[in-house]
Amino acid sequence: MDINFDDLKVQGIQMQYYYVCPRKLWLFSKQITMEHTNDQVLQGKILHEQAYSREKKEVSIDNLIKLDMISDDYVGEVKSSSRMMEADRMQLLYYLYYLKQLKIERTGKIHYVKERRTEEVYLTTEDEKKVEKALVKIREINSCESPPSKKRLPYCPKCAYYLFCFVGEVEE
Ligand code: SF4
Repeated sequence: MDINFDDLKVQGIQMQYYYVCPRKLWLFSKQITMEHTNDQVLQGKILHEQAYSREKKEVSIDNLIKLDMISDDYVGEVKSSSRMMEADRMQLLYYLYYLKQLKIERTGKIHYVKERRTEEVYLTTEDEKKVEKALVKIREINSCESPPSKKRLPYCPKCAYYLFCFVGEVEE
């Protein structure tokens, strides 16, 4: 697939949200942000800040992607748990893809803090196509005037937009 990367590139978190829930992606992209109202998100952020603090050297590129760690060999991403494994993997693959466009090739490592384990991620040709397809879909979703319909997912109760999506349906 031939894409114009410069035209389609997004924030790393938007790639992650696309894989979590397209509605969440749309709401975030329209700057309807409610993350700070969610304790789970706050706890995750604190854990994220504390974890690997000695090794961490955050690097921001184009104000779009924020790499938790980068060395001569790898790019590291810190996650509190593996609950969103596929979305986390795609976020890191997107970083590897992004860096490749800048002629930088690295291996990825996801550090799952609570589980104290690390997973290696390699960007294959197939993954590159997957990233490109996702970028096209993200553009499509974000171009819509209204958000994708809500769909109850196991993740919903922990999502910062839960009240926004299910107001009136929340159990007492
Ligand atoms: S609450 Fe559920 S449907 Fe609503 S944005 Fe979050 S994950 Fe998506």
